Amino acid sequence: MRGIIIKSLDYKEKSKIVFIYTILGLKGYKVIGIKGKKNVVAGNLTTGNIIDFTYTDSQFPSLVEFDTIKSNLDCSNNFDTIDVLRVMVEVINYLPEDAPHKLMYQFIEDAFMNILNINPYKVLSIFLIKMLYPFGVSPNLKSCSKCGKKTDLIGFSIVDGGALCNNCCSGYNDLLKYWSIYYYSKDNILKLDDCNFKELLKEINKYYLINVHMNLKLHL
Ligand SMILES: [Zn+2]
Repeated sequence: MRGIIIKSLDYKEKSKIVFIYTILGLKGYKVIGIKGKKNVVAGNLTTGNIIDFTYTDSQFPSLVEFDTIKSNLDCSNNFDTIDVLRVMVEVINYLPEDAPHKLMYQFIEDAFMNILNINPYKVLSIFLIKMLYPFGVSPNLKSCSKCGKKTDLIGFSIVDGGALCNNCCSGYNDLLKYWSIYYYSKDNILKLDDCNFKELLKEINKYYLINVHMNLKLHL
């Protein structure tokens, strides 16, 4: 099974529970006798890492074996990347249990895979816009959120929940286009066009607060 390590908790005297996000959602796996070991094994079970693993077929499964596919440990000297990783992990932690994990898993893994390769703000922007879907939030991007007009959409309003037409919006806002591309496109993150990610993340930050009821506490 392939998965992303989201968090770990101490369990009993010498063990830990590692929470891994997979196509099955976020589940805890016991790792017996690992606590306090500052060895390679413990280091590879770090938040943000992608692993292949096997586990026991039991009510509360234990991790049997694992291989690290991608380590995001190297990001520890880059504050932006750490913050992006923190937000992505918090969002996954907060996903509804019945979200369509199987459908979303590959996209989420690609996001964690690319976090060190490209602008981390690009990964985060696209990740957050895509994750609105499992939260059951769909920004209205195809018609004006105030009057319903389907043409001349030129702006995005956080308060009104989506696009605004040229009659309802006082100024042109370039970011609407990117909300739409990132929300609907099925292309890999690497293939999607760039925009002003800091500005977009400011909108996304407010949008999450109002519509997902989640404070991302982004340091932009
Ligand atoms: Zn309008």
